[in-house]
Amino acid sequence: MRRGSGDREPAAGREAERVGLDAGAAGEPEREAPEEPREERAPGRPRAAREGDASAVPPPPAPPAPARARGLRLHREAAGKGRGCGRSSGNPADELRPPRPVTVDSSKARTSLGALKISIRQLRWKEFPFGRRLPCDIYWHGVSFHDNDIFSGQVNKFPGMTEMVRKITLSRAVRIMQNLFPEEYNFYPRSWILPDEFQLFVAQVRMVKDGDPSWKPTFIVKPDGGCQGDGIYLIKDPSDIRLAGTLQSRPAVVQEYICKPLLIDKLKFDIRLYVLLKSLDPLEIYIAKDGLSRFCTEPYQEPSPKNLHHVFMHLTNYSLNIHSGNFVHSDSTSTGSKRTFSSILCRLSSKGVDIKKVWSDIISLVIKTVIALTPELKVFYQSDIPAGRPGPTCFQILGFDILLMKNLKPILLEVNANPSMRIEHEQELSPGVFENVPSLVDEEVKVAVIRDTLRLMDPLKNKREKQSQPHKKPLAGKEGEGPSDCEPAGASDTNPNPEAHLPSICLKQVFPKYAKQFNYLRLVDRMANLFIRFLGIKGSMKLGPTGFRTFIRNCKLSSSSLSMAAVDILYIDITRRWNSMTLDQRDSGMCLQAFVEAFFYLAQRKFKMLPLHEQVASLVDLCEYHLSLLDERRLVCGRSSRAGGRAPGSSTPQGATRSAQQADGHPPCCTDSARKSSGPRRALS
Ligand code: ADP
Repeated sequence: MRRGSGDREPAAGREAERVGLDAGAAGEPEREAPEEPREERAPGRPRAAREGDASAVPPPPAPPAPARARGLRLHREAAGKGRGCGRSSGNPADELRPPRPVTVDSSKARTSLGALKISIRQLRWKEFPFGRRLPCDIYWHGVSFHDNDIFSGQVNKFPGMTEMVRKITLSRAVRIMQNLFPEEYNFYPRSWILPDEFQLFVAQVRMVKDGDPSWKPTFIVKPDGGCQGDGIYLIKDPSDIRLAGTLQSRPAVVQEYICKPLLIDKLKFDIRLYVLLKSLDPLEIYIAKDGLSRFCTEPYQEPSPKNLHHVFMHLTNYSLNIHSGNFVHSDSTSTGSKRTFSSILCRLSSKGVDIKKVWSDIISLVIKTVIALTPELKVFYQSDIPAGRPGPTCFQILGFDILLMKNLKPILLEVNANPSMRIEHEQELSPGVFENVPSLVDEEVKVAVIRDTLRLMDPLKNKREKQSQPHKKPLAGKEGEGPSDCEPAGASDTNPNPEAHLPSICLKQVFPKYAKQFNYLRLVDRMANLFIRFLGIKGSMKLGPTGFRTFIRNCKLSSSSLSMAAVDILYIDITRRWNSMTLDQRDSGMCLQAFVEAFFYLAQRKFKMLPLHEQVASLVDLCEYHLSLLDERRLVCGRSSRAGGRAPGSSTPQGATRSAQQADGHPPCCTDSARKSSGPRRALS
């Protein structure tokens, strides 16, 4: 165990420095600091007000009746095309007709409803606040992918994201990457999972203390699935863990406490950044150019037995600090208990800090964290939206909570699947009595993030852009008619740019922009592709013993020193251990993390002398190579059977395909490259 993460060196920042990742927020105009209560829980407030009750938000002005009718007709035409809506019909007249407004189902938007309504109005799209019988282009869900059944369009949640960012799951996913790339993933504090790793935690702490009696670490215990600082406490020694509350009844993560955070005005603060995962495969990540900084309300001191329980000193949660008498509401972005991140950067810059480096380290942290999350997200995705079945495509706004250390190294605290998008903040009318009041600053930051996410996801963007080209005159309306209210932004000749009335996009693409610098980290992603290939049954998330055997056989991994009996034992051992640890009992079999562990074991056996990541990379290459050969053989086999020949044991071309399929227990792939052939069976986005 490394000692004292609070003293760790600045991030390796290798990639960041190499590519000189842009300093997105540097020099941005300052904005006022919005309030940021967490969506999930807010004690002491009535639920309706807390969750942005739809009735509390004024509806956007309705377009005049004729325009409404026309919008509906246009939409019906497109709605009939299901998922393909927005694509060209092939009819040149359609190309020239002004596109119908994009339709958004906001019926499940919950606390993000207010910001969503404003965004839709600014974009001149069409909102369906009570849902709709016909499909919508975009579904905006407040909580999770599973809010209801959607078969087309786009939804703002990925299946499995909520599970993936829980404290334990995130820690596990990052730990796999730390094992492979310890330098690159040293932005996440060393963590142990309770109760499973309690003994390991005790033993490792004792070992370091024995080696260095002057080491006086602090740890932070965080209940799994908790939020708003709920149930969190600091300890100086493993024996201080509250066994009854935590170990038995509530799984938790215990983590090295960062003792030396960067202070401003003597206060600890953290950063909330909004990150858009636009697509999973191909991976597309955007980061909002500005975020929020949330301040503690009691001057910081390094942890000591005397101050360990001072939550206003050690925890930056807004939901906690709002209850402190020292909480400062401010109309300025650069003062008070919540400020914009850009105002912090301006201040640091004025003190000579290289804020471009800070930003590029943060971008690097975000990309690496998403890379750690994507393998399992792909498994969830293929399970919830199996290939060949109708389903939506997905995107999601994530809230990254980041702490800057004194030496400016960014540390990942957690990722929120449902960052609060509320545009009100709380005001304490009398002690303990709170009221939500509109917050212009919240509106400015969060509306920009939602609106620009919608702009990036716009399914009719291409069509609208084509029409805005000056030489193409829209056919809509007879000569002499004025532009309709229903017409989308920029559809008229006078405004060639459909987004001319909107500010420039606040989301900056960081992946694939910097893919070259980070692709080498995506080893587990490639393992997940192998795993998914051998899952066999549609919708499954766990690999059965036959699937595992087929993987070993098809990738030619068994040998005289690794018999199939040994493979079976490996499968049983690892699977049993993981199933006893994980809460997910959805189906029996080997989960992805268990497969990764088995894969590491096989890689270590086969490529003994290399460092772990090279062992694993070599084994992934080998597997992909053998699978590509297999796929090529099948292709040839398929071609020759179509040309009259028949694969042995088959009497029809379909039979030949089926026998190939049966050979490895999954549908054949029609690709001819190793990388593609081992990839998931449909594009995930
Ligand atoms: P929650 O989801 O309950 O907000 P977090 O993981 O965000 O849990 O932790 C709450 C707060 O505790 C953070 O905002 C931060 O101020 C502090 N914190 C969390 N982990 C650490 C750590 N490893 N070192 C220092 N401070 C931490």
